[in-house]
Amino acid sequence: MLVTPNAGLAESKPRLATCSLCGCFGCHMSLLDIDARLIELIELVDLDLCPLDDKKAFDRPVDIGLVEGGCANELNVRVLQDFRAHCRVLVSVGACAINGGVPAMRNLVTLRECLESVYLTGPIVEGPGVIPNGEDLPLLLDRVYPCHEVVRIDYFLPGCPPSADAIWEGLTALLAGREPAPPYQLLKYE
Ligand code: SF4
Repeated sequence: MLVTPNAGLAESKPRLATCSLCGCFGCHMSLLDIDARLIELIELVDLDLCPLDDKKAFDRPVDIGLVEGGCANELNVRVLQDFRAHCRVLVSVGACAINGGVPAMRNLVTLRECLESVYLTGPIVEGPGVIPNGEDLPLLLDRVYPCHEVVRIDYFLPGCPPSADAIWEGLTALLAGREPAPPYQLLKYE
């Protein structure tokens, strides 16, 4: 599918949104690593909901969404579903978004075993442990889910993190209405 992100929008710059779910923000750091091209980027797009600008909620649809991290709790799911609802094109960026990444290592055991190991029986637990259960804590999912198992994802940008050049290639292709296809040399799968 060839995507024209600004199709149907008024003559304004395309809007870009990003979010981090269960990830380490390394993919956002890689986005910042495009360095001087950040100036070019803000000439090409208007930044919408994004950790970089502290905007808290969508107030309109956006053209491109970049999502970092997978879904480990119900808050991640709600944020991702909201992103899907507002982004015409949604890109899974990085190993955590694409396959769960390091957080998905907990999928090797049950959630109960994971919590008991971390809070009750693990080697770093001192004294009688307690499993946090506050009302303000988002409920953990039974396992960590990649984004495409929760919502439809249009494109995948692998890497941990994807390089700044790969992110730039993908973004500029989408903005030009082309299929994002970073050269093989720019792609990493670890
Ligand atoms: S893919 Fe790697 S860099 Fe990106 S959020 Fe996950 S652990 Fe961090």
